[in-house]
Amino acid sequence: MKEWLRSIPAVHELQNHEQFLTLLEKSQLDVIQLTKQLKEVISQVRTLLVKEQWHGAMPGTNQFITEMFQLLNSQIHKQFSFTIEKVINATGTILHTNLGRARLSDNAINHVIETARNYSNLEYKLIEGERGSRHSHVETLIKEITGAEAAMVVNNNAAAVYLVLRALAENKEVIVSRGQLVEIGGSFRISSIMEESGATLIEVGTTNKTHLYDYEKAIQSETAIVMKVHTSNFKVVGFTKSIETEELVQLSKEKNVIFYEDLGSGALYDFRKHGIGEEPVVKEVIAMGADVVSFSGDKLLGGPQAGIIAGKKEIIDKLKKHQLARVLRVDKMTLAALEGTLLDYARGEKGIQNIPTLRDLLVNLDVLDDRAKGFVTNLLQATDKYLTEVFEDMSQVGGGTMPDVQLPTRVVAVKHNKLSAEQLGKKLRTECKPAIVARIQKDALIIDLRTVSSEEEPFILQALINI
Ligand SMILES: *Cc1c(COP(=O)(O)O)cnc(C)c1O
Repeated sequence: MKEWLRSIPAVHELQNHEQFLTLLEKSQLDVIQLTKQLKEVISQVRTLLVKEQWHGAMPGTNQFITEMFQLLNSQIHKQFSFTIEKVINATGTILHTNLGRARLSDNAINHVIETARNYSNLEYKLIEGERGSRHSHVETLIKEITGAEAAMVVNNNAAAVYLVLRALAENKEVIVSRGQLVEIGGSFRISSIMEESGATLIEVGTTNKTHLYDYEKAIQSETAIVMKVHTSNFKVVGFTKSIETEELVQLSKEKNVIFYEDLGSGALYDFRKHGIGEEPVVKEVIAMGADVVSFSGDKLLGGPQAGIIAGKKEIIDKLKKHQLARVLRVDKMTLAALEGTLLDYARGEKGIQNIPTLRDLLVNLDVLDDRAKGFVTNLLQATDKYLTEVFEDMSQVGGGTMPDVQLPTRVVAVKHNKLSAEQLGKKLRTECKPAIVARIQKDALIIDLRTVSSEEEPFILQALINI
């Protein structure tokens, strides 16, 4: 044993080994870092030898040295790989919050890369040669697309709600219907944000019914805002009544208070014309006379995480000047991603096909049917390990958006001849790079190609063949 331990080469000897030099080049680590990793490997091997748990070649042989460098290689690989990694979303849930919500369009991605790599006119007016505002870049586009007088962007919609309440209703009252006091994803509650903002929440009506006179009675001298909150994540059905935006706009005008609508997702595209959901387009809500609205950048809009606030110029100016605007401001990469996405919208029907979220939402059932059947044909041609079936199922929009909307889809159900659906699902998640995430339903693995790009499809196929 002692003999063996003594046969482990010294660090300085290994440092001169050609395999060390190769790793030095390949890993981009400096000598100090690589040596530190090497020492750790030596110590691990030593421990294994002492415990008689080393199953590799014997120290003193060339093979032993090769194995040490192999260990070093895999250790570096593990320690210096990203923890955020690409995942193939085969669940069919488009805005999967756990998988990063919206995928960006190529235009957005390229604009981010360009902006990240270079200096930009982020806060600089090129014509005047003087300081500019970062708000200006996307504001024009948002105004054009929503018809609002002014707009600004903050970190996410939760931040937008917070800023609006803080800047416009601190130490004042905000009236919200009980039926709209939503909690989203367990971490966003209107009532909690309201408390943080220093505004006082005045709840009106009941969970299922709120009448206009409930609002009317509640408005008094301390009232700053009448707020409407989009009931994302849930839908109250049956004996219900909520007041429409138009009526609340009218009432707010009469009483001289601000009407603010938190649209949650905020559709810039009219999905209703394809029979999908009942989401109002932001432009309509602005046209109805809402003083201010806010919505997410990475839900139905299909862009980066952001909170967009649009409305009357006087109000937006006040928000821009508030100290919190500096705290909640977005990075140039977010602005670039958002500008890229909004430009796609500005291009019309053709442009929106560039945005993965919209493309996935609007894809034709025939296309999904063809893809599912093609996938099964290819799988069965390559292997007989699986029992497969194509059947009609539903995809979810996800992200707490359109909770009542079920998008008809065609899924591939696969059953492995030896593995359970859970085991198969786990293998796809843990043994594939990129990991593949799929649903499990009644002991079958369900693959919904709606959220899988055509370049990713062969990879899933190959992964199933290899298992
Ligand atoms: C999703 C949502 C939010 C929070 O938006 P984020 O962009 O996720 O911060 C706020 N309000 C409503 C109604 C929502 O649906």
